[in-house]
Amino acid sequence: MQMQAAKNMKSQLVYSFADGDGHNKKLLGGKGANLCEMTQIGLNVPPGFVITTEACLAYLEKNELPPELMAAVKTEIDKLEAATGRTFGAGADPLLVSVRSGSALSMPGMMDTILNLGLNDETLAGLIEQTGDERFAYDAYRRFIQLFGKVALGIGDEKFDEHFAEVKELAGVKADVALEAAHLKEISQRFLAVVRDETGEDFPQDVMTQLQLAVESVFRSWMGKRAVDYRREFHITPDMANGTAVNICTMVFGNMGDDCATGVGFTRNPGTGENEMFGEYLTNAQGEDVVAGIRTPKSLVQMETEMPSQFAQLVELRNKLESHYKEVQDYEFTIEKGTLYCLQTRNGKMNAAALVKTSVDMYREKLISREQALLRIDPELLEQLLHPSLDPDSAVKPIALGLPASPGAAAGKCVFDADLAEKLGRSGEKLILVREETRPEDIHGFFAAEGILTSRGGKTSHAAVVARGMGKPCVAGAEGIEVDVALRLAKVGEHILHEGDVITLDGATGEVYLGAIPTLPAHFSDELQVLLEWADEVADLKVMANADTPDAARRAREYGAMGIGLCRTERMFNASDRLPIVIDMILADNKEDRKAALNNLLPIQRADFIELFSVMSPDPVTVRLLDPPMHEFLPTEQQLLQQVENLRLYRDVVRGRQTALTALASAPELPKAFTELSEEHVTDALTKKERMLQKVRELQETNPMLGHRGVRLGITYPEIYAMQIEAILEAAVECAKKGINVQPEIMVPQVITSQELAHVKRTVEELTERLEKESGQKLRFKFGTMIETVRACTRARPLAASAEFFSFGTNDLTQATFSFSREDAENKFLPMYNDSGILQDNPFEVLDIQGVGQLIEQAVRRGREVRKDLKIGICGEQGGHPESIRFCHHVGLNYVSCSGPRVPVARLAVANAKLRENEFKIPER
Ligand code: PEP
Ligand code: MG
Repeated sequence: MQMQAAKNMKSQLVYSFADGDGHNKKLLGGKGANLCEMTQIGLNVPPGFVITTEACLAYLEKNELPPELMAAVKTEIDKLEAATGRTFGAGADPLLVSVRSGSALSMPGMMDTILNLGLNDETLAGLIEQTGDERFAYDAYRRFIQLFGKVALGIGDEKFDEHFAEVKELAGVKADVALEAAHLKEISQRFLAVVRDETGEDFPQDVMTQLQLAVESVFRSWMGKRAVDYRREFHITPDMANGTAVNICTMVFGNMGDDCATGVGFTRNPGTGENEMFGEYLTNAQGEDVVAGIRTPKSLVQMETEMPSQFAQLVELRNKLESHYKEVQDYEFTIEKGTLYCLQTRNGKMNAAALVKTSVDMYREKLISREQALLRIDPELLEQLLHPSLDPDSAVKPIALGLPASPGAAAGKCVFDADLAEKLGRSGEKLILVREETRPEDIHGFFAAEGILTSRGGKTSHAAVVARGMGKPCVAGAEGIEVDVALRLAKVGEHILHEGDVITLDGATGEVYLGAIPTLPAHFSDELQVLLEWADEVADLKVMANADTPDAARRAREYGAMGIGLCRTERMFNASDRLPIVIDMILADNKEDRKAALNNLLPIQRADFIELFSVMSPDPVTVRLLDPPMHEFLPTEQQLLQQVENLRLYRDVVRGRQTALTALASAPELPKAFTELSEEHVTDALTKKERMLQKVRELQETNPMLGHRGVRLGITYPEIYAMQIEAILEAAVECAKKGINVQPEIMVPQVITSQELAHVKRTVEELTERLEKESGQKLRFKFGTMIETVRACTRARPLAASAEFFSFGTNDLTQATFSFSREDAENKFLPMYNDSGILQDNPFEVLDIQGVGQLIEQAVRRGREVRKDLKIGICGEQGGHPESIRFCHHVGLNYVSCSGPRVPVARLAVANAKLRENEFKIPER
């Protein structure tokens, strides 16, 4: 019995608006479900019915309509006739309908609409008789013939348009509205002839045949190229939308006179979120006239004076829509002879600023709950609000396209090296640093520049990561650009950029423009603050920032960071006042010389930490001990070879000068340039460069990222880590003395064995004991490890015995798990892997839950078996990505850490992760 009922339900292919389930978008399509819903809540929707997506699928499978379909359609048409008192296909008061497609997901402009279906020679006469308006009737007829001809019979618009234009010209008329009844009659007749010529048959006069052909064409359009491409582009799977429904709705006319109108509206302003009437309308017009832009529509606000009683109906409609859907609606309406009808509604698409404002407002108006306010915003969208953006009104074409590596927009003069950038930056110039790729020693150039452009490297290249950390825009891997530092120019297609030429970057799209394009400032509104505070209250995960300088820490604080989850100390070493000391340390041949250099660094590091801890007080600051291989602080072998060669040439010049001096001993005065550097100076410089070259060769490794770096460096040069640990602990003592509450965390990178960790821990313990004795203060800090090698994941138990916290370095862990480097992957095969679906995402941006995620999950479980209160976080790039954050919540991490400007995105994402925790599933791929 039940099975029989289920079968019957399944086989119902047509639902009237009064009966269809407004929540079943899969069966009725979004538009159809909403028409049912609106009808059933008492809104004035013209009567109509929906043919289901199941009917569509059945048609596509067999290439013919299900046998019972047209009979069911006829029954619904009979009901429409009864409801409207009109007749379909006959009489003085003919029933006309619109036919529209509509799948579960909206696919804008994908399939066409047929209006005025039901017109033929007989009903045309009826329409003229009924309205007494011949012009109106012929206008409706010619629109119908063209749309039907195009959509149902496949005749190109141009076949009709040429006749339309010709009649207009013969009539001497410019605007369509100036055409008279006779012209429109002529056009209709010509259009009927077009159909005959193109199809070899007369335009169908039987209205049920018209309807059947229209339904079939809508069904077929689901497999049309436009629709298939759209679904592929937006990853719309059959799971999300399968087949299209067909909506058949009684026509109402906005073009029957001055008491008629048609328009579109948003229940709130989609650009600002302001709670106001927003939209446009045209009197005496059809819907397509508003969209086509033939006449300039008026603002809805004007309707209040022009059509006051209809305006009141519109306000009522808008209020009902919002109070029912509890979401901003984008609706279409028509006023026919003073009566307002709602023809369509859907959730309104808004920009990020409007989404945030409407979320907070609608909660305050008690329309939605806090949870709904948080969940209705895609966290990624917040990024739009945190950086300046290009003024969308500027219609300039880009000259190059790279990867959108760090969002924001900036304009400035190009400079091709970091030293010059620093120099010019000091004089207040706005600059864009343009490089083939950047290296750690370019850091001072980043500080000076407004934005970074590179011709190589991907979204996790050095340039991208550093720029993101600083909140500066970056376009990376713009392959069409050839940078020639020696000639001080860059070739971009046919353009030549000279140093000093102004360019603009859009880091959100990867576009590069010539000249200065106006930008709009970032917008961190009060509403955004409020929304993010709600998010913090809901979430389990804390959000930390990856920040290396006090400035970056301050900015991260403004974005709401709850501490620093990763301070990469090498970035401190790269600042221009420290690099020479670091180089001395690297060049040292023995422990004493190295210690001497480190002694110079100690006070600088201590001062850095004091400031960092103070900015973040009372929240934790996780300081990572030195990680990169030493050679990263030195120039490349190629650069050094060039410099050595230059110096040798210069030494010859200086020697020549000496010879000249001797020869001209009696000359009265020598030119100034001849009196500057002595041979001794040049030889000193040359010796230093030669030593550097020798060191670079000694440090050379085949795979430096898998070589002498991280804790391995700390163990082989123990005095480096000792200096850093001492600086951290002394900074803690200093802060404590000043009454500043700090929570330092010492973090060891690249750990593979528990013995490595125990080794470093001994240094920490020795220094702690000494400093506590000297200062009389009890030191409070945590000691922990990064988990960024596969072995560390498998050995999480013994590591947790020494570590009070784990932080997953998912940049390296991803690299190690996939066994390919991020730089090579992003530059070479990854785009192709992503395009062809071999890999769904870039694993350096989106955490690979099925692979890397499994290692994380094991390490979390093992670590907590040994230490229940083990604090665990993530500090790789993926830590700021919403889907990855959902996984972090799922496996029970305590925090995520991401670049400062990503913090607001992550704050909303951690709340969403909590609110949607029950829906989380490990993806299957
Ligand atoms: C990581 O490997 O994820 C990490 C944060 O360290 P880095 O990117 O500095 O190697
Ligand atoms: Mg790492």
